[in-house]
Amino acid sequence: MDKNEVDYILRYSSHLMTLEEKKAWRHYSTLFKQDKENVSEFSHSRREMLLRNNWITDDPEILILLKEGIEVFRENTAKRILSDNGNEIVFNYCPKCGKLTRTPKSKQCRFCFHDWHQ
Ligand SMILES: [Zn+2]
Repeated sequence: MDKNEVDYILRYSSHLMTLEEKKAWRHYSTLFKQDKENVSEFSHSRREMLLRNNWITDDPEILILLKEGIEVFRENTAKRILSDNGNEIVFNYCPKCGKLTRTPKSKQCRFCFHDWHQ
């Protein structure tokens, strides 16, 4: 699966993530937004607060999803969504060059600049 497809699936079909995937994503996003690489960089009280509010997790079954890094997590999640919910995903391909457009409703291709607005 190429990176464009991963981005597209996660951007428009993130509601199809499992509860575990959503928790992992939220955990990662919380660290990322606060410029931390590891929960140990938070103060003890802050970490407790984030855990209590489910912004981060200490569940090993969730954390294992992030073990190999965010790109691997994103790709695995996109693949899992595609195999479980593929019929709910509308891939919008350029009618001219066949590449994936930026959004499900795009009418212009970012690769060949073909435009199919009526
Ligand atoms: Zn095109």
